[in-house]
Amino acid sequence: MSNTEQAPTEQTVCTAGTAVTTEPDIELLQPREVPLGGPRAMLVRRALPNRDRRMVGAWCFADSYGPTDIAGRAGMQVPPHPHTGLQTVTWLVQGEVWHQDSVGSRQLVGPGQLPLMTAGHGIAHSEQSPPEHSSSLFGAQLWVALPERYRDVAPAFEFHDALPRQEQRDGSVTVLAGAIDGAAAPATTYSPLVGASLTIDTNGELTVPLEPDFEHAVLAQSPGLSVAGAQIPVGAMLYLGRGRSDVTIASETGGQALLLGGEPFTEDLVMWWNFVGRTHDEIVESRAGWETERDSSIAHRRFGAVDGYRGATLPAPRLPNARLKARGRYHPHH
Ligand code: MN
Repeated sequence: MSNTEQAPTEQTVCTAGTAVTTEPDIELLQPREVPLGGPRAMLVRRALPNRDRRMVGAWCFADSYGPTDIAGRAGMQVPPHPHTGLQTVTWLVQGEVWHQDSVGSRQLVGPGQLPLMTAGHGIAHSEQSPPEHSSSLFGAQLWVALPERYRDVAPAFEFHDALPRQEQRDGSVTVLAGAIDGAAAPATTYSPLVGASLTIDTNGELTVPLEPDFEHAVLAQSPGLSVAGAQIPVGAMLYLGRGRSDVTIASETGGQALLLGGEPFTEDLVMWWNFVGRTHDEIVESRAGWETERDSSIAHRRFGAVDGYRGATLPAPRLPNARLKARGRYHPHH
């Protein structure tokens, strides 16, 4: 998935007062609806980065979408675009995505399968609904920021279709990253974090053990979900803070949620378009690199070509006039 906003607003900086206030223990993060790009663009619900809260652990981007009827339509069509300094996780509940990238991966992804792409120093990829696809597309795209010492690792792609899964009376917990109750996911990660997919029956509830040193959040992919009586609208995320040893998620109508958590990420980041960096100049360099190489055949490529893709790559948006500033994981506006 790509951040295709032509004027990304993540860098709107409030200069009136930078005093750090006490963080809320519990906070409902409403999503923004964002078109994924292209004609008749698919809308996604973006919960992270949120206005004040940029991250949960190292999770720095959370889009959810569907269930969307794409019968007879193109569905998801994201041309080749670059990434740096992050990992991407695609998680489908329904439908398929055809993934291709510049390290040579060509992978059809279906429900319950975990493609994990590590951008590191730089990668390019495309994501498309295949020509023959299911009528419904329902899923999420998540990004994980890489910490300083790993952010320039070589780009890589891994694919996991056997994930730890814990059955409970009212549903199941599938571990996407990190570990829950000693069951560790095979995904390569670079900071202490956890990600899990929750499937909950109608009028059911799931209790998931948590690492108290982590902060956590629950992203609702279906209506009727709540934590301790607090309803979570579809696409929204309920931030739960730290210090919890478990969380119980209830469902009125049956549905899906994502649990995300990790050690609070202490490094300030510049997130712009599809790049995660540390400074304005670094983002300028990444953008210029992509614009120079994206539809050319120059020998030295930072991002590389998505060889199997037919069609034009995605151009980078214009940089804002102001310099991009590194921001912390929590940045309350006044
Ligand atoms: Mn992407």
